Order: sequence, then C-alpha cells, then structure tokens
Amino acid sequence: MSTLKICPVCASDNIVKETSKKDFVEIKGEKIELYSTVTVCQDCGETFASLKDEMELINRAREIYRNRHGIPSPGQILEFKNRYRLSLRDMEKLTGISFKTIDRYLKGSIPDPSNSTLLKIFLNFPYVVYKFLCDEKFSSEKYNFSRKKASEAIPFKIISYKTDASCSMNPVYHISQENEKKWTKTTSYTTSSLTA
Ligand SMILES: [Zn+2]
Repeated sequence: MSTLKICPVCASDNIVKETSKKDFVEIKGEKIELYSTVTVCQDCGETFASLKDEMELINRAREIYRNRHGIPSPGQILEFKNRYRLSLRDMEKLTGISFKTIDRYLKGSIPDPSNSTLLKIFLNFPYVVYKFLCDEKFSSEKYNFSRKKASEAIPFKIISYKTDASCSMNPVYHISQENEKKWTKTTSYTTSSLTA
C-alpha cells in the first residue's frame, strides 16, 4: 500500500518520481500549510499520494497545529506516563481524563482545549502531580515510586521535610519566600519550553 507501481489513470508504470508540492490540511477548522510528497506519472502527468503519504501528512499537520497552540505532543504525554510509571488507568485516576481518551492522544489525536490545559498542568508542575498522588486513591504502595519521582522533581526545597514517597506532611506550608520566587521563575521557563 505504501508505493504505487502502476498509474491508476493510464496504467503506465513510469511513475517512479516523487516530488514535493505545497499542500494544506485542515485541523480543527484551521488550515495548516505544508509540503506533501506525491508520486507523479511521467506519462499522463497525474499526481498521486499513497495512504502512507496521507497519514504522514496528517501527522505532520497535527504536529504543526500542536506547536502553534502549545498542545502537549504524544511523545510528551508518553514521557510523563513513563517517568512516573503510570498505567493508562492510573493516568485516568490522576487527570480525570478517560484512559481511552488518553490512549487516543498517545496515538496522535489532538486534545481539546480543556484537556490540553489539564495535561499541561500535570506535565509542567511536578508539585501538582505530587499533591494529587497524595490523595487516598493513590495510597497503595505501588505509587511510592511515582510520588518519590514527583517530589524529587519539585524545583524548590521543602523546608523541614525530607522529600520522599510519604505524604505525612503538607509541603505547601513549607515553601520559603525565596524559594517561591525561584519556583515562579522555573515555571515560567518550563511553560514556554513546552511550546518551543
Ligand atoms: Zn498516468
């Protein structure tokens, strides 16, 4: 299915040449301009795109759309999921987004604005992840690793509190003013890096 061997119009097999032409794909009502790869029949001049080319084109258009709107990519969502060793069900428990929907995002589907914002908050702010993982529904020991990972990623030191997997203290009351400033700086950096 990937490459055409015979021209569907004139049945010529002289269709080896691939070329790039300016094309556009509409993503959520927005025109995305990009170059697509097409196969040209040397005899009748007809151009064709294989199914593989079409899929590749759509994926590239989605990537442009995501970058334009600062929407988390499948790679970023997967990296988050792996970093905290969370299953799709765990992701659903954490974010409130159904595991089937998250699975679709991992396969390239574009999150709607509210889910996109929600994911960005979890992806950018380990403190938020940590706080949510301290909820009773994550009390099972199997989440110790995720909690530890999140607490270690918080870009400020929690005073009089050893960062570990336990939730014995509420760290929000232990941020010094100085560290809070640092935290603000770091977060603004992290947010912009997601859109870059
Ligand atoms: Zn032809």
